[in-house]
Amino acid sequence: MLKPDFCTSLNGCIPPNKHCRDCSHAVWFGEVEVIGKKHLFQFNPQYGVTFVTKSGEPRVRQPSEKNPVWEAWGKWHDEFF
Ligand SMILES: [Zn+2]
Repeated sequence: MLKPDFCTSLNGCIPPNKHCRDCSHAVWFGEVEVIGKKHLFQFNPQYGVTFVTKSGEPRVRQPSEKNPVWEAWGKWHDEFF
């Protein structure tokens, strides 16, 4: 499992402790590339994926269900979790 970028849990959760796999306090930052365009996101096992801007702000428009970025994200998730 990929080490989280940070985890603020006070529950003895020291990465890469497996606790983080389901941890509401652990956050991973990542990016996937689709047709030459990079999509930045943050991921939390409890709250899911939020696509973000370069400055880390949630994008106003999140990808629709049909967007191929989800398939790319699924591969990222399969690889690291
Ligand atoms: Zn954790």
